[in-house]
Amino acid sequence: MTIGERVEMLLKQIPDDVTVCAATKRRTSSEISEAISAGITNIGENYVQEAAWKQAEVSASANWHMLGHLQTNKVRQALSLFDLIQSLDSIRLAERIDRIAAESDQVVSTLIEVNIAGEATKSGIKEADLEELLAILPRLAHLRVKGLMVMPPYFIDQERARPYFKRARNLFDTIATARIENVNMKILSMGMSHDWQIAIEEGSTMVRIGTAIFGTRK
Ligand SMILES: *Cc1c(COP(=O)(O)O)cnc(C)c1O
Repeated sequence: MTIGERVEMLLKQIPDDVTVCAATKRRTSSEISEAISAGITNIGENYVQEAAWKQAEVSASANWHMLGHLQTNKVRQALSLFDLIQSLDSIRLAERIDRIAAESDQVVSTLIEVNIAGEATKSGIKEADLEELLAILPRLAHLRVKGLMVMPPYFIDQERARPYFKRARNLFDTIATARIENVNMKILSMGMSHDWQIAIEEGSTMVRIGTAIFGTRK
């Protein structure tokens, strides 16, 4: 199957109120262009440099999302490249984004990435540190939190990811109820190629799909 055919099939299966973000790390610019032609409107990259050269090569318009860990020394460049930073994972990064965005009176959209299973190998803020991050957001006028991004551990049996998706949905609802200034919970980014069905059943509003669109990564 071609990339275009896979995109069409996926968009037919995924409910209209769930956004598909194509995860395009290590894919070529022409592969990305093919996905956009077939109806993909959101492109997720993991590295600032990689996104920079791809954006220069992809002429079709799309929203670009940062999915990978963002180093504080790359924030300035990231703000010129991305429409949504899905990987806000520390107070230090939040303060840095706010300060740089303030210089050009920009307001930056972000999702808080939560390390939902507390895995040492994964990025994302620990649940225990979340409250401290939420507490400083009202004074960061150039940053908007629009939701959460999570990535549960990989299980061969996708059902085992369900409790983590549930946990993320509960966190999402709790934060929404708290009505924090500069926080407007709209996007719950969870679910990848092998577990998006379960993520959607548990309330995902955005899935990030790589392999199911582009095939196995080399
Ligand atoms: C690579 C990646 C994905 C997509 O993974 P697939 O299993 O290929 O669908 C989703 N989210 C993040 C953060 C990624 O790095």
